[in-house]
Amino acid sequence: MANSKKQKKAASEDGAAIKRTLKFMASVAWKERPSLFVVYGLLFVAQLIQKAQLVILPKFLIDELMLILGGAPAENHLRNVMIYVLLICGCNLLANVMNNVANQWRSVLQEWFNEYFEVRLAEHAMAMDFEHTEDPAALDQLNRAKEGISWYSGGVVGVLNSVYELVCNIAVLLGVSTIILITCPLLLPVQIIGLLVISYFNARNNRLEIESYKELAGINRIFGYYLFQLPDFSYGKEIRLYDSAEMMIQKADTEGKKMVGVWDTLSKKQCKNAWGMDIMNAARDGISYFYIGLLALLKKITIGDFSMCITSASELYRGMLGVVQGCQDIAKRCVYANQFLKLLDYPVALSKGDKVVAGDTHVIEFSHVSFKYPRSEQYVLKDINLEITSGEHLSVVGLNGAGKTTFIKLLCRLYDVTEGEILIDGINIKEYSEEEYRKLFAVVFQDFQLFAFSLKENIAFGENENTEEVEKVLRLSGFYEDAQKLPQGLDTMLYKSFDEKGTELSGGQQQKTAIARALYKNAPIVILDEPTAALDPVAEYDIYRSFDTLVGGKTAIYISHRLSSCKFCDKIAVFAENTIKEYGTHDELVNQKNGIYAELFAAQAQYYVEAV
Ligand code: ADP
Repeated sequence: MANSKKQKKAASEDGAAIKRTLKFMASVAWKERPSLFVVYGLLFVAQLIQKAQLVILPKFLIDELMLILGGAPAENHLRNVMIYVLLICGCNLLANVMNNVANQWRSVLQEWFNEYFEVRLAEHAMAMDFEHTEDPAALDQLNRAKEGISWYSGGVVGVLNSVYELVCNIAVLLGVSTIILITCPLLLPVQIIGLLVISYFNARNNRLEIESYKELAGINRIFGYYLFQLPDFSYGKEIRLYDSAEMMIQKADTEGKKMVGVWDTLSKKQCKNAWGMDIMNAARDGISYFYIGLLALLKKITIGDFSMCITSASELYRGMLGVVQGCQDIAKRCVYANQFLKLLDYPVALSKGDKVVAGDTHVIEFSHVSFKYPRSEQYVLKDINLEITSGEHLSVVGLNGAGKTTFIKLLCRLYDVTEGEILIDGINIKEYSEEEYRKLFAVVFQDFQLFAFSLKENIAFGENENTEEVEKVLRLSGFYEDAQKLPQGLDTMLYKSFDEKGTELSGGQQQKTAIARALYKNAPIVILDEPTAALDPVAEYDIYRSFDTLVGGKTAIYISHRLSSCKFCDKIAVFAENTIKEYGTHDELVNQKNGIYAELFAAQAQYYVEAV
C-alpha cells in the first residue's frame, strides 16, 4: 500500500517535472534560437518524403513490372516504370540533401545551447545564497544539474529531438496504419501485441538506469573530489608533505569500485530484459511474414501490395516502438534536465530589498542578534548587542571558535541572522539592495582566495583597472617591491594552471595581495579577519598599523589573535561563550581585574613588546 502510494507520488512528481522541463526547453529555444524550429520543420518534411519513397513508391513500380512480366504490352507501362524510378531517386536525393543541411545546422545549435547552459549554470552557482556553498545537498544538486543538463538529457536539442522524433513517428504511424488497415488488417494486432511486450522490457531498463543514475551522482561527487584534488596544484604541498596521495588514491579506488559495481549490476539486470525483447522480435516477424505471404499466395493482394505490407509492417512496428520509446525518452530526458531547473530553484540571494545605502557615514548596530548555522541546532552567537559608529575602529578578539568570523559573515550578509536584527543607519540590512549593500564592505577573510588570473586582475578584478591605483595599494600593503621582481610584474599570472610561467606567491605575499585588493575596493567599511596569520608578529603589527593609518576616517573592524593590533583601535569587543563578554577601550580592558582581555594581553606581551 505504502509502496504504491510512494510510486504514485513519484509518478506525479515526474509528470510535473516533464511538463515544466518541456515548457522551459521550448521557451529557451524560442527565445534564444528560434531557428531550431526551422531545422525540425526541414527534418520533418525530409522524413515524410523518405517514408513515401520507401513504402509507397516501390509498390507502384513493382506492380508495373509485374504487369510487364505477366504479358501486358511493355510500351504501355515502361513510361510509368521510368517515372517511378525517377521519383524514387529524386525523393531520395531531396530527402538526403534536406537531412544533411538540417543536421549540420542542428549540430551548430546544439553546441551553442551546451555553452549557453554551462554559462547559466556557472552564473547561478555563483549567485546562489552563500549558505548553499556549504550545503552538501546543494553541491550534489549542482553536480546532478551539470550531468543532467548536458550529458544525460542533451539539453534543449536533446529534449526537443525526442519531441521531434515522437511527432515524426506519430505521423508515420498514422500513414502506415491506414495502408495496413486497407490491405492486411490482421497485421495490426500482431504488431501491437509485440510492441506492448517489448515496451514493457524497455520501461524496466529505463527505470533501472534512472535508479542507478541517482546512486551514481553521490559517488561521482566524492570520486571527483579525490581525483581532482590530487592533480590540483594548490594542494600539492599538503599532499606531498603529509604523504596523503596514497590515502586519496585508495579512497578514490573505493569509490571507483562502487561505481563499477553499480554499472555491473545495471548491465546484468538490463541484459535479461534485452533477451526478452529479442525473443519477442523474432516471434513477431515470423507471424507477420507468414500472414502476408499467405495473402499473396491466395492472390488477395498484389506482389506490390506484398512489398508495401512488409515495409509497412516494419514501419508500423518501428513507428509504434518509436512512439512508446519516444514518450519514455522524453520522460527520461526531462527528468534528467529537470535537475537543472531544481538548481535554478535554489534562491539566488537572501531575500532582496531595494533600498540604497545613502551617504558616506554609516552606523552599524547589532540588536539582540543570535545565530545558528543552517542545519545546526547550536547557537554560535547569542544576544549580540553592539554599535559601531561611523569612522570607529573596532578590534574583535577571542579564542578560536568564539564566533568572530561568523559575526563578520552576518554583518556582510553572507547569512541571515536567526534572531534579532542588524541595522545600518537605523534600517534592517535585509531592506537594502544586496548589490548596493555589499559595496559597503572591503573584507579580507582568513581563508581568502586568490585566482589563477594575473596579479593585477586579482586586485582590480577587471573593474576600471587602474595600474597606478594597483601600484599604490601594493605599496601600502608592502608588496610593491617584490611584485616588481615578478617575471611580468603586475601582469604575472598567479599559479601555473593556465600559464607555465605563472608564479606561486609565498603565504605572506598572498596575504599582502588580498589586503591590496581590499584597499583597491575603497569601500567605506573595511574588515580584516586575521588574514595576517602567516606573517610574523612584527610584520603583522606593521601591516595593521599602516592599514589603520590608511583606513583613516573609514569604519574598520579587525580580527586578530595578536592583541598588538588592538592598541590603536577605538574599541575592543571580546568574544567568548558565544557572546560579547567584554567591551571597551584598550586601557579600560587591560586594567580589568581577571578580565579575559587583560589575561590574553599579559600572555602575549612578550611577542610584541619589541615591536611596539
Ligand atoms: P572564530 O572566527 O572565532 O574562530 P567562527 O565564527 O569561525 O569562530 O566559528 C564559530 C563556531 O561556528 C565554531 O564552533 C565553528 O565550528 C562553527 N562554524 C563555523 N562555520 C560553520 C558552518 N559553515 N557551519 C556550521 N558551523 C560552523
